[in-house]
Order: sequence, then structure tokens, then C-alpha cells
Amino acid sequence: MGRAFQASSELFRRSKEVVPGGVNSPVRAWNAVGGEPLYIARADGSRVFDEDGRGYIDYVCAWGPLILGHAPRAVLDALAEAGPRGTGFGAPTKGELELAELVSARMKGIEQLRLVNSGTEATMSAMRLSRGYTGRTKVLKFDGCYHGHVDGLLAKAGSGVESLSLPDSAGVPESFTGETLISGFNDVDSARRLIAEHREDLAAVIVEPVCGNMGVIPPEPGFLEALRELTRRYGVVLIFDEVITGFRVAPGGAQERYGVTPDLTCLGKVLGGGLPVGAFGGRRDIMSCLAPVGPVYQAGTLSGNPVTVAAGLATLRALEEKGVYRELEEKGRKLEEGFKGVLSSGVEGAVNRVGSMLTLFFGPDRIAAPEDARGCDRDRFSRFFHGMLARGIYLPPSQFEAQFVSLAHGDDDIAATVAAFADWAAEDSSRR
Ligand SMILES: *Cc1c(COP(=O)(O)O)cnc(C)c1O
Repeated sequence: MGRAFQASSELFRRSKEVVPGGVNSPVRAWNAVGGEPLYIARADGSRVFDEDGRGYIDYVCAWGPLILGHAPRAVLDALAEAGPRGTGFGAPTKGELELAELVSARMKGIEQLRLVNSGTEATMSAMRLSRGYTGRTKVLKFDGCYHGHVDGLLAKAGSGVESLSLPDSAGVPESFTGETLISGFNDVDSARRLIAEHREDLAAVIVEPVCGNMGVIPPEPGFLEALRELTRRYGVVLIFDEVITGFRVAPGGAQERYGVTPDLTCLGKVLGGGLPVGAFGGRRDIMSCLAPVGPVYQAGTLSGNPVTVAAGLATLRALEEKGVYRELEEKGRKLEEGFKGVLSSGVEGAVNRVGSMLTLFFGPDRIAAPEDARGCDRDRFSRFFHGMLARGIYLPPSQFEAQFVSLAHGDDDIAATVAAFADWAAEDSSRR
């Protein structure tokens, strides 16, 4: 290890002794790009600073929550006010009510909402609720979509496998994922066939309306509409996993941006303003199957935590300011155009973007499905990642992640990022 990252390197060595792989979530270990992760000491606006004292323009943004940027004044003030009033009561609070009212006013598909502590909990609970509501057992998910580390959803189709699926993880019995069907993302024919074939047993269809976990892959026109039509026809619950897209791609999420309203919606990330959170909500008749009203059990000691709720409310209120979504769109567009300008000078690749989430793929010039993304040049991505890092740009350490732009990213940040890419691309092509 070079001296430059000495502090991070030493902390990583110690961490590996007491934390599996040294990290509390696998992608943080940088296995996909090689090298050792940076330890982040602090952050401000668009920047993170590592333990060696170096600053970087950050496009990880805590994997999506930080739409206002790091440590925004509005959230810091809300935390300073909420903390001294008590960090949790296990009893209802006015803040939770205000958050639920705000979310249901903003998201068309949400009449009622329940808060949980992570996106994983939200999808897990939405599936149980769908099963309880319909009295059916199977769920359909899409290849490449990630819904947290729920046992039954840790499955994708292997090549050619399109019906019953095998687990992606050790420790998940086949019988658990045996209730999970897998369709191709953006593949209406495959979804139609599976939904029709399993209509008697199918409780829910769950989808990321914009795939964000294979890199960004937008829905093709007609895909979400077809899922809405098919699920309605067969009485299947349609779940949009908007853990990334909620409050990011439009004030009312992907359901607003694409004009398709699901029966249930899962939320997380932006909703917590950087603190741990999740939520699921939807139609009143479905949500009222939950305990204590109905027979589907779901609970949480820390659910609706007042400090988290304060950070979430502050974030969502800041997003009510006029023009912020136009600003996010504009920043995203500038970065996309800058990247594409470099690609047009002879680097093979594509940029997929929806609003302020985007991915630069090193592969064919059109990435429309997860299998296209899997074909990308991951070695080149690794060189790109480390080349950008050396130039002061901190990117998600995998080809299959979304890069996030926040309101704190200025034009100068974006220009510096594009210049770094151009500089790296010139160096990389001359080296080979
Ligand atoms: C991050 C994510 C989750 C899981 O959320 P956690 O808070 O990490 O449990 C679920 N679905 C999608 C689409 C996500 O991006």
C-alpha cells in the first residue's frame, strides 16, 4: 500500500480482525474494483474527506439518501432540535404523523404508510402483506433488481432459467426462493407469460421501476404500464420498490415520473435524510390487513424513531422548495453530457440516466437490460474507478451501481469530474 492511504489502510487491517471482511455491508470492501476502501472521517456538501485528510467530490452520497448533499443545514438543525427532546419513546409521536401525511400527499400510490428501519424490512413486510391480502404464496421479481437481503428475494435467473429460481446466497433454502419467480427486466413477454401461468398462486409482482442495482437501467416505454395492466387483470398486488427512486426521480417518485400507480410502494434512503429508515405504504384496503387492524403481523421497536423522522421531515420539506427537481435534472444532464462528450472521443461505453441517478457503462452504446450490463468491461471500470479516485473523484466501487448527484454538487464539481474523466481516458488509451 502506498503511503498516501496509510491511515485508511491501518484502520482496514484492524477492522478485518473484528468485522467480517472489515465492513458492515459487502460492497464497501471494494472487491469489485480491487484495492482497499477509504475510511471516511467527515463530509460536507459535495465532498467526503478520508482519514488521511484528502477530499473527494462524492457521487456515492451514502448510496442514495443524501439528495441534499452531506450535512445540510436543514437536517443538522432538525437533529439538534430533536435529540434533546429524547431519542425514542416506543409510543406514537406527532412527527411520525406529519411524515406519513407528507408522504401520502406526495406519492399517489400511498394512502396509508408504515415506517420501518431499512429498505430490506420494507420489501420483506410488503411481501408478507401481499401474501396475507391475497392468500397466495408466490412473488414475481425481475432479473437484476435488488430488494434488500430478504431471503426469498435473493434470487435472479441464471442463464435460461426463467421460472423457479435458485438462491444467490448460501444460507437461503431452495424452498424459500422456490416461491419466487424471475422475469427479464423490460421483458413484457416473459412477465406476461409468468403472470398468466401462475395467476392462481401469485401474490405480488415486485419491481424497481428504474433498475438502480445493475447500474441505472430505465424502464422501456410500456413496461411498467404492462405490469400494471397484467396485475390488475389477475388480482395480483403490484409493488414498486422505490427505495432509491422515491423522492429522487420526481417529488412523487418513479410512479409520478412514469405515470403508473402501484398498489404498494417501498421507500427508504432519501426518506430518512441519511439516518436508518424504510417504509411501505399503499392502498388503504391492503394496508388495513396489517396488525393491529388485520391479521398480518408486522412490528418494530425503533420504527418511527423521532430522530430519524426529524431528519426525514427536514429533507422532504427542503425538497418542497420550488425548482429543486429541475435543478437536480439539470445537474444530472450536465454530467451525462460531459461523460458522453468524452465517450464520443473514442471510448466505448454508454451513459444511462434518470434525473440525478446515472451510470457510465464500459460496454455497448445501449444498455437496456441487466444482461447488457453484465457484458460490460469490468477491468476497464476498475481502472476508471482508481483513475478517478487519484484525481479526487469518489465513485461507487462497482460497474453495477448508480452514481448520485445531489443539490450540493455545483457546476464546478461537475466540470472537474468531466475533466478528470477526459484526463483518465487519454492516459488509459495511450497506455494500451
Ligand atoms: C438499498 C435498496 C434496498 C435495501 O435497503 P436497505 O436499507 O439497504 O435495507 C431495497 N431496494 C432497493 C431498490 C434498494 O436500492
